[in-house]
Amino acid sequence: MTQLLANKTAIITGAASPRGLGKATALLFAEHGARVVILDLDADQAQTAAADLPGEGHMGRACDVTDRTACLLVARELIGTLDQIDILVNNAGITQPLKLMEIAPENYDAVLDVNLRGTLYMSQALIPHMRDHERGSIVNMSSVSAQRGGGIFGGPHYSAAKAGILGLTKAMARELAPAGIRANAICPGFIDTDITAGKLTPEMRQSVLDGIPMGRAGTAGDVAGCALFLASDLSAYVTGSEVDVNGGSLIH
Ligand code: NAD
Repeated sequence: MTQLLANKTAIITGAASPRGLGKATALLFAEHGARVVILDLDADQAQTAAADLPGEGHMGRACDVTDRTACLLVARELIGTLDQIDILVNNAGITQPLKLMEIAPENYDAVLDVNLRGTLYMSQALIPHMRDHERGSIVNMSSVSAQRGGGIFGGPHYSAAKAGILGLTKAMARELAPAGIRANAICPGFIDTDITAGKLTPEMRQSVLDGIPMGRAGTAGDVAGCALFLASDLSAYVTGSEVDVNGGSLIH
């Protein structure tokens, strides 16, 4: 197998969740020769996830991406330890199944902060290093919810946060292209993970599946494959794009 990420180092946020998109991405990146650093809220869980990956040198660290100082500190430590960091996947995210009028200030803060503020803070922590090396690929996890106004599980504040990620990604791509840094977003549709925390009823699930031309939920591996493409040199001329991984649930 051609290893698409040989000698590359990738940082992936929110990648400790065992069935999550970040962990599947970490696994595929490691299979393609990357050294992977998993960041998540809990240090033990991040280390356990890193220890699960094939190959040597993977690391797990605690980092709450809503905490700017924590992002800067972990970036400083990793930059000091590792030769070069080539790839950042801003994957950490939370969602809540609220309707518009149910969104309280604390709901807004929680969802906007992890998804959008966290993407900004972790990127800001690594961009100076990527600029120094004149290369880098940043992959941000948005959602089909951003493009079609929800309709799966997350509320309007989740759609807004994920739409914010699309705008941020495109502006980052424009500003960072001269420095050799690419930025792209992935818009997953309905993917089987634990993000819905058991709150998706069988009826809700069936109604989502009814709207997917491919007739099935996506797998975490489906999203990981797209992240691999965007992280690797296969996508060397792709920046500022939003790539759909949704089984046809939004064709536009
Ligand atoms: P998940 O709940 O399985 O994993 C999310 C991870 O983020 C968890 O490990 C959690 O601990 C971590 N996290 C939460 N807050 C954090 C913080 N402040 N700092 C660092 N880490 C934090 O979810 P998932 O389904 O794997 O989702 C991954 C990403 O994909 C999210 O951004 C999500 O919004 C997005 N997404 C998921 C779907 C889907 O259907 N599963 C669809 C579209 C987009």
